[in-house]
Amino acid sequence: MAGEPQADCLFCKIVRGEVPATLVRETETVLAFRDINPQAPTHVLVIPKAHYRDAADLASSAPQLVADVLREAGEVAAEEKTDSTGYRIVFNTGAGAGQTVFHAHAHLLGGRGLEWPPG
Ligand code: AMP
Ligand code: ZN
Repeated sequence: MAGEPQADCLFCKIVRGEVPATLVRETETVLAFRDINPQAPTHVLVIPKAHYRDAADLASSAPQLVADVLREAGEVAAEEKTDSTGYRIVFNTGAGAGQTVFHAHAHLLGGRGLEWPPG
């Protein structure tokens, strides 16, 4: 069911502390941790603690959590000083767009020049 913890979901396991992660920020509803395979000097994943399969599912089921995720992404950007140079927030959605973990997450990327359009 939407929002319920999933036993076999990697990011639910990180939320439960069953898989280690380098935490950057934590609130009641959101966790931010460093991507294990960083694509930029700052590459942080910002996730709702509750399980939703992608950004659209999150937005239709729990819109307040979208605001929580985006606010926390902005807080991380400020802490990492990427807000002064610009940063990108990406929600890969669907396998064809590169989504590999089906627990909604924002990639916060910054600290280098970012090409547009992305590949
Ligand atoms: P996506 O491909 O958009 O679904 O993003 C999933 C991201 O999770 C990728 O950028 C991976 O590098 C990252 N990732 C996978 N396993 C871990 C982990 N154990 N800790 C932190 N990041 C991870
Ligand atoms: Zn999950």
